[in-house]
Amino acid sequence: MKRTAYDVVVVGAGPAGSVAARQFARAGFSVLLVEKRQEIGAPVRCAEAIGSETTRAFLEPDERWIDAHISYYEVFSAAGSSVIVPPTEPTLVVNRKVFDWELANLASRAGAEVLTRTAATGVIQPDGRVTGLHLNSMGKTYTVEARLVIAADGVESQVARWAGLKTVPSMANYYVGFQYLLGNLELERSRCQYHIGQQLAPGGYAWVFPKREDTANVGLVISANHGQEESAQSYLDRFVEQHFPEANILGIVAGGIPATGALRKMVTAGLMAVGDAAHQADPLTAGGINLGMIGADMAAQVGIRALETDDLSAERLSEYERMWQDRFGAQHAALLQMRKLLTDMEDQRLDSIIRTASSLPLEQMSLGEIMLALLKHHPRLLLESRKLITTRLILK
Ligand SMILES: Cc1cc2nc3c(=O)[nH]c(=O)nc-3n(C[C@H](O)[C@H](O)[C@H](O)COP(=O)(O)OP(=O)(O)OC[C@H]3O[C@@H](n4cnc5c(N)ncnc54)[C@H](O)[C@@H]3O)c2cc1C
Repeated sequence: MKRTAYDVVVVGAGPAGSVAARQFARAGFSVLLVEKRQEIGAPVRCAEAIGSETTRAFLEPDERWIDAHISYYEVFSAAGSSVIVPPTEPTLVVNRKVFDWELANLASRAGAEVLTRTAATGVIQPDGRVTGLHLNSMGKTYTVEARLVIAADGVESQVARWAGLKTVPSMANYYVGFQYLLGNLELERSRCQYHIGQQLAPGGYAWVFPKREDTANVGLVISANHGQEESAQSYLDRFVEQHFPEANILGIVAGGIPATGALRKMVTAGLMAVGDAAHQADPLTAGGINLGMIGADMAAQVGIRALETDDLSAERLSEYERMWQDRFGAQHAALLQMRKLLTDMEDQRLDSIIRTASSLPLEQMSLGEIMLALLKHHPRLLLESRKLITTRLILK
């Protein structure tokens, strides 16, 4: 470490942390990005699907980290009915190890100092304002001063919690995930599959995302309160046995995702939380890479103005919370409701809804039109989706 005081210290070199570090460094501030793991991006804890257009705003797509180009999704019921759903934007399945490394490298090229095998071990917070961090860098302990700390330390975020933010999600809103990288598969490589069913993945869903050649990420999430009865791994083993009995397991991933919608309070004086640390993942799909990058970018926009005017108060930084709520608040509240509706539904009804949806020309319909068509065939949905409708999201 070359210095002991920075304008900004970012904790965690995942996608959110690296984007934040790059934006602050680009604006001319001194930035330290610390990562506790010895290698950025490894081990991977992800199914690795991202939207290509959203990503392009931060990183030019590059075949070095693209494993598959996805043009459509297919959603299956447990009984095997399916509906083809066009993605909201073209999707890429990536190699997260190279992707995360590339993002950190861009932060470094913009001027951020990057330190791996360096963990934040505590916040310095005199009089309620965060002014620095305790670090352990390759076995040595340091303190470092920071005008602003960015907590980008992922799903288990301790930095935000140490600073007083309430980051522990309820069990029902916490996804527990387990995934295999499977080899020896015969798959349509431009299709991502989702499988939904109470017996299959209670409170969640399973996925099959193709990777290079004959490999794929095959995994599932269940809601954490179901994980007490049976583990996510055991559900996945059953799924793999049923669908891919000939496959070989080339890798294993386990991890959690807060699927709550973003924290209402993502800042305190001198600190902003971004990415999974701020629960910014999509409450329906649990995808958090792109949303974490967008959250980091929003935090940087507000943080840069706060640093320029030397006002790092919670009030000043809370503009970031308002920005997030304006863009995603209503949408994510609706997605959370939609998840509850889908995951509480009996398998038979879900199958019947998927069969109705598969007869609709989805590509030519807006979300509102799709919902109205489904309601015509399944009027009970009206009652169940009343909260969704009041958000006015789906009918606009
Ligand atoms: C099984 C599974 C599948 C998933 N699939 C997808 C998917 O297909 N698409 C998608 O968009 N999202 C997916 N996600 C979610 C996605 O992985 C996360 O939303 C995303 O990684 C969040 O990025 P982040 O930068 O906020 O945090 P992370 O990527 O988790 O990065 C946080 C970093 O902080 C570091 N860190 C933690 N504590 C400290 C500390 N004290 N000091 C220093 N460093 C620290 C960690 O080592 C880590 O590198 C999946 C998650 C799981 C578990």
